[in-house]
Amino acid sequence: MSLSPAQTRDTPLTALVIHGGAGVVERALLSAQDERDIRYELNRALDAGNAVLSIGGHAIDAVQAAILVLEDSPRFNAGKGAAFTARGGHELDAAIMDGHRRRAGAVAGVTTVRHPIRLARAVMEHSAHVMLAGDGAEQFADTRGDLERVPNSWFDTDVRRRQLEAAQAAESAGALPAMAGGYFGTVGAVALDASGRIAAGTSTGGMTNKRHGRIGDSPIIGAGTWADDRCGVSGTGWGEFYIRHAVAHDIAARIAYRGDTLAAAASEVIDRVIPAAGGDGGAIALDRDGNIAMPFNTPGMYRGWIRPDGSRGVAVFKGDS
Ligand code: ASP
Repeated sequence: MSLSPAQTRDTPLTALVIHGGAGVVERALLSAQDERDIRYELNRALDAGNAVLSIGGHAIDAVQAAILVLEDSPRFNAGKGAAFTARGGHELDAAIMDGHRRRAGAVAGVTTVRHPIRLARAVMEHSAHVMLAGDGAEQFADTRGDLERVPNSWFDTDVRRRQLEAAQAAESAGALPAMAGGYFGTVGAVALDASGRIAAGTSTGGMTNKRHGRIGDSPIIGAGTWADDRCGVSGTGWGEFYIRHAVAHDIAARIAYRGDTLAAAASEVIDRVIPAAGGDGGAIALDRDGNIAMPFNTPGMYRGWIRPDGSRGVAVFKGDS
């Protein structure tokens, strides 16, 4: 393997970008306290990921560390605080990918694993497979001694229950189930470590009011999650569109095959391809030079970043920094 630019520099580059979901949050609907709490949690996730990167740790450990913070926060639609399915439970999806070694692990429809990103990583490292779903994923979790289990109701929060009720009322009034549910709060992270390795991960409860058994884009390698030796991507948005347009891989392919810049590739897919198809959402991406892109076509996307020069920030709405 050729050395990446990060590996040939005197001072190694590291970079980290995270998201806490894109969606239709309007400035007027987010209280100042909620926004402060969300920004605080995003900063904690950045700190957790950066603690790994700053001591020369592996990008995949940084991704996992950042996502664990967001899975444990009830503010985000992943782990605690996950969206409700139409029948009132939680089915969690997650994926993680190590771009350097082209390894990946994913789980779908998980119901009792507190940290689905850990289970996805275990699939990658301790099974012969890339993706496990439903009962099979739960049974695989049974074989691991290091994964915390919780009752499905542990993921409940009042906010998500109210969102389910609103979605079901809208559906009864004639809205499409997917539109009625909407989404917000999926989490993801992409990291570049000092050795030039890139990793990406995504974790979600999926879309509110989703049908039992529905699997979104987040755990599908190439749709919601991707990493190779050039770039990494984690998506958040209306998953069916992200699957049909292989969003995460399309961004990477534009860089690999056409020589697009990261910013151009990510913007083209998120700002043009997805809306043209009728979907919406956003993505975070970074490349091996430490460039970061965070496009979204929704009113907001919770996001945070630490650039190679150490500058960092968290943001919610367009134009925030
Ligand atoms: N993409 C996720 C899904 O469709 C939802 C989200 O990003 O909020 O399951």
